[in-house]
Amino acid sequence: MPASLFSDIEYLKGVGRAKGEKYRKLGITTPYELIYHIPRAYLDYRVYVPVQQAVLNEQNVLKLTITKKLPPQRIRGGLVICKAAATDGTDDILVVVYNNVYAFHALNEGETYYMHGKVTGNFLRKEISSPTWISAGSSVLIQPVYRLTQGLSAAMIRTNMRQALDIMHSAPIETLPEKIREEYALSPLEWSLENIHFPGSDAAAEQARRRLAFDELLRLTLGMSLMKSRTRSSSTPEMKYGGDITEFTGTLPFTLTDDQLSAVNDIISDLRRTMPMNRLLQGDVGSGKTAVAAAACWYTAQSGMQSALMAPTEILAMQHYRTLSDFLSPAGLNVVLLTGSVTPKKKAALREQILSGEADVIVGTHAMIQKDVEYRSLALVITDEQHRFGVEQRAALAEKGSSPHRLVMSATPIPRTLALMIYGDLDISLIRQLPNGRKPVNTYAVTGKLRHRAFNFVRERLDEGRQAYVVCPMIEDSDSDLFAVKTYAEEAAKGDLRGYSTALLHGRMRSAEKEKVMKAFRDGEVQALICTTVVEVGVDVPNAAVMVIENAERFGLSQLHQLRGRVGRGSFESTCILITDNTSEECIKRMKIMSSTSDGFKISEEDLKMRGPGDFFGSAQHGLPPMKIADIACSTELMERAQHCARELLSADPELSAPEHHALKMEVIKLFRKEITG
Ligand code: ADP
Ligand code: MG
Repeated sequence: MPASLFSDIEYLKGVGRAKGEKYRKLGITTPYELIYHIPRAYLDYRVYVPVQQAVLNEQNVLKLTITKKLPPQRIRGGLVICKAAATDGTDDILVVVYNNVYAFHALNEGETYYMHGKVTGNFLRKEISSPTWISAGSSVLIQPVYRLTQGLSAAMIRTNMRQALDIMHSAPIETLPEKIREEYALSPLEWSLENIHFPGSDAAAEQARRRLAFDELLRLTLGMSLMKSRTRSSSTPEMKYGGDITEFTGTLPFTLTDDQLSAVNDIISDLRRTMPMNRLLQGDVGSGKTAVAAAACWYTAQSGMQSALMAPTEILAMQHYRTLSDFLSPAGLNVVLLTGSVTPKKKAALREQILSGEADVIVGTHAMIQKDVEYRSLALVITDEQHRFGVEQRAALAEKGSSPHRLVMSATPIPRTLALMIYGDLDISLIRQLPNGRKPVNTYAVTGKLRHRAFNFVRERLDEGRQAYVVCPMIEDSDSDLFAVKTYAEEAAKGDLRGYSTALLHGRMRSAEKEKVMKAFRDGEVQALICTTVVEVGVDVPNAAVMVIENAERFGLSQLHQLRGRVGRGSFESTCILITDNTSEECIKRMKIMSSTSDGFKISEEDLKMRGPGDFFGSAQHGLPPMKIADIACSTELMERAQHCARELLSADPELSAPEHHALKMEVIKLFRKEITG
């Protein structure tokens, strides 16, 4: 019986147990998964060069006729070398094949081949070693190049791919109704898979990529929407507190900005409904999202229910804990902190408080979604920087309550199309203005030559009583030239920052240690914090007014903006100095943007423009199921079309239960299950 697309990869002809294991290493267990092993590039045999123009010591494609095969030579260690003389009609070259007599036998004298391999030698004598080749008469002149693993050759994968695709052609797997394919100008799935692997032309490969990327984006959007509509169709206990929000805002040490206030009103009117809220609170770093979150927690507590706030890192959780305690304790609320590093004894006590309802607001990391933590009446779930959480973590937290209201806080002002893709169809509250008295951070980009001058400036600020961050990209020294915090901190303490109190902070320190350092910095005992990007999210020390970023070229625009957001949080004039010796056009452009604007939305749009949405999908920062092709072939246009298509499909068939949508629905389920089971 011939293998089917869904039988074990081992049953493909010529694969077997041992090679099957190798395929598993690549994450491929069936022929079906094999056909979704997308080439990372193509080898185009059509673009060959004459021998004379071959670039020495590099890979070249040559068109060669074998003139004479020489007898194989056996040398030390059992190695066999086969050589053949060849010509391109003008110049001669030696073809050298190591340890592959079998392949060599297949070469025929008098026949012409396209050969791809490294060309070495000199003006007079050249050789091409260990080439791959195809016959010049072959109809497939563009060959796929795959990610390989030891023991699986490119040729082997191509042979198996051919077999798997042939199986597919005999049992089609199209998931989209023809009507949709026509409307969105998409090629049939089988054609696309054939042409992503063995394209007849560049245009065919492009068209295939477009279809497959569309599929991924569509499945992603459908999955997110289905998950959301499931939570939306359920209902949540009503919050009935009739008092006025000014009861709470009156206890704050400041007046909320208009944007904050309107976000609070959006949220409270959502909370008073039984349909679960699904709202994104977007606001630039420092715009005061936490105060808005606090108001939501306050209202929830007044209605007799619990709120939870989950942060992606321990530092950030501790930060939120402190802020929320400051905001909410005066109003009589009990805020608790639950992270992975609390002792078992303390954790037991916390669990008790959470279960009894004694805790009104629970702040923490993913420790708070573990099975053993039970909530008495969780009605509001807030996640900060949510795109850093996986889909399954979001779902786990939501399951702790009976369809709780959800509020997502994000400082990354992502454009709406992307937001829709990441969060599903949700409502958005925007905080555009910064609290009064905030001044934009003066930003300068300089080269390493000016480092000492930059530190003169840093010392002046420190002498005035301010504090500073110095950010490096690495923790430990490596082969690269990048600055590592450990060494940097030692050297700065002896050099540029001699006589000042400095401390080291990076992600690999134990959390108790991290917290100790952060506390010392917050308390002003540490003047300069030498750190990695662990300070990127959320850390709030208003007295810190200077930031130096080393190897600034290493950071993307959004990340630089996040980092810079750590300063300029108080009433002091603040400065950010970007140091880089990189002179690439891209880097210079990034530095220019950073120096010229502090508007997070503008920066985020520029970032998206420069990198393309594909880069975003490739970054694995979004907590979405992994994309195989959308990361290389995605465009905003395609994303919008996929979203449009998803909306159309769901409005006609909300659960995708029609027979013609069955195949598609199965793919959506598969995509999300994979994410959940890791
Ligand atoms: P982010 O939106 O980056 O999370 P935070 O909530 O951490 O911002 O707020 C940044 C700082 O601004 C905090 O120190 C906070 O207490 C302060 N803050 C928030 N809202 C206001 C306001 N309306 N007026 C003055 N300061 C505010
Ligand atoms: Mg924050």
